[in-house]
Amino acid sequence: MAEPEAGVDACQRLMEETVRIFRETYPACEPTIAVAAPGRVNMIGEHTDYNQGFVLPMALPLVTVVVGCKSTDGVISLLTTAKEADEPKRLEFPAPSEANPLSPGLPRWANYVKGVIQHYRASPLPGFKAVMASNVPLGGGLSSSASLEVAMYTFLQQICPDDGDLVEKALTCQKAEHTFASMPCGIMDQFISVMGRKDHALLIDCRSLEVTPVPLIDPNLVVLITNSNVRHTLTGSEYPTRRQQCMEAAKALGKESLRDVCMADLEAAKTCLEAEVYCRARHVISEIKRTTEAADALKARNYWEFGKLMVQSHNSLRDDYEVSCRELDELVAAAMDGEGVYGSRMTGGGFGGCTVTLVDAAAVEKTIQRIKDRYSGTATFYITKPSNGARVLKL
Ligand code: ADP
Ligand code: MG
Repeated sequence: MAEPEAGVDACQRLMEETVRIFRETYPACEPTIAVAAPGRVNMIGEHTDYNQGFVLPMALPLVTVVVGCKSTDGVISLLTTAKEADEPKRLEFPAPSEANPLSPGLPRWANYVKGVIQHYRASPLPGFKAVMASNVPLGGGLSSSASLEVAMYTFLQQICPDDGDLVEKALTCQKAEHTFASMPCGIMDQFISVMGRKDHALLIDCRSLEVTPVPLIDPNLVVLITNSNVRHTLTGSEYPTRRQQCMEAAKALGKESLRDVCMADLEAAKTCLEAEVYCRARHVISEIKRTTEAADALKARNYWEFGKLMVQSHNSLRDDYEVSCRELDELVAAAMDGEGVYGSRMTGGGFGGCTVTLVDAAAVEKTIQRIKDRYSGTATFYITKPSNGARVLKL
């Protein structure tokens, strides 16, 4: 289990290990650059980002690290240390040019990296050698994919500086995921990985892209992440379907997105909508409202109110959006059934992955034990603190 204070050390250790692997892999080169970008946990505001709504994530102490150096041969050499990544883990290709752009292919993991390289906002990119390593669980709903993209972008900034615009950086990483990994994700994951702020969750308005930091630093409060360690394979197809249904609902109501629709509008149009589409929209509209209310509750340090909204969010994701699963429901039920637990919910896209639980520090050990005892699978726990976004590390 990750201790809260372990974050900085864990990042340092991961970097040192990655440097060792770099030297082993490329004995003729010495690394000159090291960067890190975090994964995230979303406290509330699920499936709202692609509806131009609000989200409230925080950056994690878990990171993806990229270590490497420029080369003069115009070749890009990549290696990932991730055991779960598909083979081959090492590959080489020429740095892209206008005449010779990159395109997605196999291995799948490299598409996240290639997409960032192809869409990078400065040129000409020189060749380089890089090793990537991560302590964000892959596919666990803590956004290893965005942390990989943002880490790679941050690495490229060191070898070929862009204008430093952070919003454009996040948008470029999102574009990489859309076009190279075929995942039509919203903006939350890349945004928080770029802009995360120590001791704060960020309320992000996904329409205006305005970011409001909300302090989350109470020593009596713990953000506990529980990984179900399951991932149902539906995720790939279900996400675009949900997105499509949201667009359909907005269109039927004559609006650009569900952000512009209130519950009264939706109720008035209920008979014109397919039952399932109605339920999807009801989740999104209620979740956008819950997210701003939750941010206010957090500002006021009203953790019981915040927790209540978390549970409502979970129930809405389970019943109206239908993206939960038995394992996530079990974890939330086990977490909630004891003292000192403010709230708990599934976090991330759904169908597996993680839950997030807001719990009194004094109750955290008991809560973990209870979840272990009751969960039908094997869970992994992370006690986390809001951490900084992407950064350059000192070698
Ligand atoms: P999540 O972002 O929630 O972890 P995704 O399915 O969006 O889940 O992204 C996981 C995928 O991202 C992995 O299957 C892999 O292809 C890629 N990935 C993430 N981190 C790494 C890494 N360190 N090395 C190689 N591939 C990675
Ligand atoms: Mg992802």
